[in-house]
Amino acid sequence: MSSSTTVGTAARPLRVAVVGSGPAGVYAADILTKSEAVKSGELTVSIDLFDRYPAPYGLIRYGVAPDHPRIKGIVNALHKVLDRGDIRFFGNVDYGTDISIEDLRTHYDAVIFATGAIKDADLNIPGIELEGSFGGADFVSWYDGHPDVSREWPLVATSVAVLGNGNVALDVARVLSKHADDLLVTEIPDNVYAGLKASPVTDVHVFGRRGPAQVKFTPLELRELSHSKDVDIILYAEDFEFDEESDRQIQTNNQTKTMVGTLTNWIAEQPEDLSELKASRRLHLHFLHSPVEIVDSAEAPGKVAAIKFERTELDGTGNARATGEFVDYPVQAVYRAIGYFGSALPDVEFDHRRGVVANDGGRVLDASGGHVPGLYATGWIKRGPVGLIGHTKGDALETVTYLLEDRENLPFAPVPEADAVVDLLDARGVKFTSWEGWLALDAHELALGAAASEAGTSHGVEVKRERIKVVPREDMVDISRDGVAAQV
Ligand code: NAP
Repeated sequence: MSSSTTVGTAARPLRVAVVGSGPAGVYAADILTKSEAVKSGELTVSIDLFDRYPAPYGLIRYGVAPDHPRIKGIVNALHKVLDRGDIRFFGNVDYGTDISIEDLRTHYDAVIFATGAIKDADLNIPGIELEGSFGGADFVSWYDGHPDVSREWPLVATSVAVLGNGNVALDVARVLSKHADDLLVTEIPDNVYAGLKASPVTDVHVFGRRGPAQVKFTPLELRELSHSKDVDIILYAEDFEFDEESDRQIQTNNQTKTMVGTLTNWIAEQPEDLSELKASRRLHLHFLHSPVEIVDSAEAPGKVAAIKFERTELDGTGNARATGEFVDYPVQAVYRAIGYFGSALPDVEFDHRRGVVANDGGRVLDASGGHVPGLYATGWIKRGPVGLIGHTKGDALETVTYLLEDRENLPFAPVPEADAVVDLLDARGVKFTSWEGWLALDAHELALGAAASEAGTSHGVEVKRERIKVVPREDMVDISRDGVAAQV
């Protein structure tokens, strides 16, 4: 162990690796650079931010729906942090294959894991494996142009069920039901536009297992459903059950009150005769339906043909109980949007029940519950996939506070020079991307959008396209690296 008195000085800064460049990772890096210890000159830090994708921003690039530019605005704040030049970005570097825990321990004093959650939580009901049964998170990855998912998505269903009453369910249902031409103003890749354009969908049904006062949506996202052109929203009076606990929630929680108000207004304005609704697509919101089984048919064995629910009723505590009444809906596709789940990381203890890295307030724990010196976690991989992007800041602050508290006791090894990690990646043939590379890719995507806009029409639609995302990983890497090489 080298002397801790020299670590954290200008001669030997505290070297920190952050794994994951989504909001959680960038916030942690930013908070560390702005900490009192650093501002006062007591400590100097040098931070490297790694990401398995060639581009930064994690869930903002690959999780936020393309028609949510307001949330994408967070990118501007993250851009400012990374553009300052005091945090290095290494994209296209996969922790566990391109760089190991031993490598990180050799090159850094501390590691913060901020790898988030990108997989769908499991839903263990019969038929979940049928063709046409999808994870909502996988669909999100597809429409957000994730480099590692197939370019094709089988959009062949006319009637679709979306399970869950959270914002991801709303995103999935909105993208499935919106007309593709109305998404052309967004940054959707061309393969996504083509897939959605060819979709024959007419009815998208969203199912919650509890009541209208127990939804996990947020008000803005719910109201936004009514902005889709040529899509009617349909609600069902028998689903509007409120018990005493619902009334309490409505009175004490402004968000619940607003959303119940929105839903009850919609149902009040709905014509009694639904055939008076004239839109070519319909978005149905159902409550008090618990999924029981996805079924195929004799005509199309192995393929989704319907979904069975058990009706539920509120039990007075905010939860719902089964009623013994079952109902089937004929659908050809089912998307479960019942939450994300974190993925285990090599050589780090994982809590498989919660889908998080085993940790105590962000200090990573070993199998016996002791803190592994030098290892930290933040964001969804620390606390699970709940909360809005902004909530990640408080999380990062807690983790960084612990890291700073521990800094005298970190397993300070003689850490190599900052450029040694570059040599290591080069020697392994890892085609990593840099911040300058991202600026080149960013400019390229914006130029694609500008070119499409200059043409006046895109796919025959008069539209201004701000950006067109590049999807294949190798293209992202080449554009990034060639862009940097051209500047040298
Ligand atoms: P979520 O908010 O936790 O919602 C999950 C939904 O799935 C809940 O309605 C839950 O019902 C339901 N569910 C869970 N297990 C189920 C089961 N076995 N059967 C039927 N339904 C089940 O999760 P999320 O939608 O994945 O969102 C994750 C986080 O990201 C949230 O904080 C969300 O607000 C945020 N987000 C925000 C935006 C945005 O635009 N602002 C977009 C996407 C995501 P119960 O409530 O009954 O458990």
